Amino acid sequence: MTYDLIIVGAGPAGLTAAYAAQQANLAYLVLERGAIAQTVAEYPIGRPLFSTPDEVELIPGTLKPKAGPKPTREEVLTYYTRLATRELRLAIHTYEAVQAIIPTGGGFQVISAKNVYQARRVIVATGGFGRPYRLNARGETPARVSYRFVEAFPFAGQTVLVVGGGNSAAEAALDLCQAGAEVHWSLRRPSLDPRPEDADRVGIKPWVRAPLRECVARGELTIHYATTCVEILPTSARLRCQAGSLLEVPCAHVFALLGAAPDVSLLAAAGVAIAPDERPVYDPETNETSVPGLYVVGHLTRELHMKNATVVPRRVVAAIAQRLTHSSSATG
Ligand SMILES: Cc1cc2nc3c(=O)[nH]c(=O)nc-3n(C[C@H](O)[C@H](O)[C@H](O)COP(=O)(O)OP(=O)(O)OC[C@H]3O[C@@H](n4cnc5c(N)ncnc54)[C@H](O)[C@@H]3O)c2cc1C
Repeated sequence: MTYDLIIVGAGPAGLTAAYAAQQANLAYLVLERGAIAQTVAEYPIGRPLFSTPDEVELIPGTLKPKAGPKPTREEVLTYYTRLATRELRLAIHTYEAVQAIIPTGGGFQVISAKNVYQARRVIVATGGFGRPYRLNARGETPARVSYRFVEAFPFAGQTVLVVGGGNSAAEAALDLCQAGAEVHWSLRRPSLDPRPEDADRVGIKPWVRAPLRECVARGELTIHYATTCVEILPTSARLRCQAGSLLEVPCAHVFALLGAAPDVSLLAAAGVAIAPDERPVYDPETNETSVPGLYVVGHLTRELHMKNATVVPRRVVAAIAQRLTHSSSATG
């Protein structure tokens, strides 16, 4: 069969696109390389979101956090997985990575690890975290350095180094302090205050900044501003300071939480132009890329965060459905 629409990725953007496609009666399929909402599943255990339910929901008024105004990782995961499987019964193949999207002149061949599909249109919603930035420090080993922070409790009473200047690093440093670890935090930025480039992003959240400063005042956290981690040793790490001098800090483990760029290799191989900011070139009105019929939505685009991921795909799918209906009636 030929699908009207194949959606790559079942995060908030892919799920929103799938629900819109279902409502528009399109023959659609979502292909997801991991689990439903895999990115959210990889958040630290118990993490509260900074978004309110209305920014996360597929259907307004259906996500009700139990404590406080913001949902936790577990509440969002329960919400997306139950809705996608039991309630909306969205057509999703999980654990089926897309390996290639080949334009065939008027449509696409979508090749996964398990099958080859035909589609009239394709939406890529593979998110913004496909290529995590690496530390590239001398002496680094997987046993000494983790790129994912799951929870703090195993590190109680240990000395830990966190590297990175974003919210993931800030929240990990705070969780580790609160769980009784001795924390060193190396970040390139000169302070925790918002920078001009944070203007259209979230910056370090104020409700994380304040308790971090309290941890510093209590001597539980040492912040090494304007430093870069350059070497991992068996029980310590070396930081390079701005002036070039080296500082050795003790650490039983290192969390390198440095952020990520989207993986655009699938799009580039399909012929989509990639901009210097490592994001695909697309028409901001329609989200269509330089390859006609191939669209991008979600954190892969410049419309970041869930509040966009759960809104933009609706208009993109509505426009696709309208154009497909017109082209069918024109040829029918
Ligand atoms: C720790 C943490 C906390 C965050 N907290 C918030 C928050 O509170 N509020 C907020 O708005 N944002 C938050 N974000 C950002 C938020 O997760 C993203 O904005 C959101 O997930 C974007 O949704 P998406 O559907 O575009 O991408 P994703 O959720 O990343 O989904 C992309 C999906 O595509 C799949 N995929 C990738 N490649 C392929 C392939 N080749 N084939 C098939 N499937 C593929 C992935 O497995 C993934 O499931 C947070 C991020 C992190 C890391």
